[in-house]
Amino acid sequence: MRMSHDQMYARVLASDASWNGRFFTGVLTTGIYCLPACKARKPKPGNVRFFPTCEAARAAGLRACKKCHPDDFARGADPVLETVEALVAEIRANPADLPDARAIVRRSGFGATRVFELFRQHYHTTPADLLLRARMSTAKQRLLAGDAPLSRIALDAGFESLSGFHENFRRLNGLTPAAYRELREARSFTVSLPAGYLLPYLRRALSRDIHSVTERLDGNTYTTVVQLSDGPAVLTLQLAPDSVHAGISRGTAVEAHAVVAGLLGLDEDAAAFVRLAKRLGLARLVAGRHELRISQTPSVFDGLLWAIIGQQINFTFACLLKRRLIERVSTVFYGGLCAPPTPAAVAALEPADLLPLQFSRQKASYVITTARLITAGKLDLAALRSMSATRAERTLLAVHGLGPWSVNYLMMRSLGFPDCVPLGDTGVTSGLQSLLRLEERPDIDGTRRLMAMFSPYRSLATTHLWQFNQPVPT
Ligand SMILES: [Zn+2]
Repeated sequence: MRMSHDQMYARVLASDASWNGRFFTGVLTTGIYCLPACKARKPKPGNVRFFPTCEAARAAGLRACKKCHPDDFARGADPVLETVEALVAEIRANPADLPDARAIVRRSGFGATRVFELFRQHYHTTPADLLLRARMSTAKQRLLAGDAPLSRIALDAGFESLSGFHENFRRLNGLTPAAYRELREARSFTVSLPAGYLLPYLRRALSRDIHSVTERLDGNTYTTVVQLSDGPAVLTLQLAPDSVHAGISRGTAVEAHAVVAGLLGLDEDAAAFVRLAKRLGLARLVAGRHELRISQTPSVFDGLLWAIIGQQINFTFACLLKRRLIERVSTVFYGGLCAPPTPAAVAALEPADLLPLQFSRQKASYVITTARLITAGKLDLAALRSMSATRAERTLLAVHGLGPWSVNYLMMRSLGFPDCVPLGDTGVTSGLQSLLRLEERPDIDGTRRLMAMFSPYRSLATTHLWQFNQPVPT
């Protein structure tokens, strides 16, 4: 697409990072060239000249900006991000070595403000929270790996006290550490819910497609087929106001627990978002919904299929396409329910198989080529979870057929990143319009600008906006 000077200038004013690398902004008064998203002061339109490449900008006598590093970007290098990623890898490998956020700042070589900024931008979190989750993950692996005493495990993972370990473990996992260890031998377990948990909203999330062929909600009994690492299994949940009892038909309960914790959104910081909304004078966004959480999809591939199928069509039609795809590649597994598709099953299809099911030619091709990337080992869904948000977003945007809406939807619904906005989502724009009493729905730039106030909790803000114009579930 060829853009006019005005269109490019508008991208610069919007600091639109999706145009980074597609053109470069030369500022004739300062003699510097930048990425469109550079955070430096915006030049006047008359002083700007646009260049297709860094080389062209240099040939015109300009120098690279020291703030946004356009040459690094053009080379595909991002030294600051790489430094932060290396630091996070170090924290995750040995979380007991760095006692607190101050130690992380010292280790980083950046100033404290800069470190907080970088963690927020690239990991959607604070150094202290990332450290806590690294400790939790280490402790969980140790619990499953042997029979070391809990106090030993807590200490080795870097927890200062056994009570702090227990408290955080229960909050993020809905279980005690001892109960988690028992999952190795178990087929069932009970997860306790946070006080005030909104069961009606969970029920609505679990029964969005009443004709679903992979899940069924019957009163307070939810039944679904999930893909575990070694094949499908039936997962049954008994929902109660303060707890959820889960059973899995085969395998061990460790994987099932991860699925259930995600469905319930246990590790999301609902309270922090409520505090932010109130501080912004937007208590009406969260009224009656303080405990609202994002229900994570059972697997990343489920979310990926939905993110491709659901783009640019209405919800009902998207549900229909998804059902037809499932019926095409899998058979009934249990009680009338099918197992969700695997990447291998979808990769074996040809676009011509999906056209009679009313897939557009383009959607059919995107679904199949993405599944083939996965089976060929070129797209590692499991690795996305441990990447920085920036790296995960870049990796997914490079997949043909995944645009900013799909990528951010997947990042918030399947990868658990807390600061994403599916730009262009009509639920978000109509929610913003009602919430802020705007004359019209905001466009993409308007949405980006308005949503910035909810950082670093834009995923929860998105979920609240989706509910804002909906009737309260019973
Ligand atoms: Zn710059």
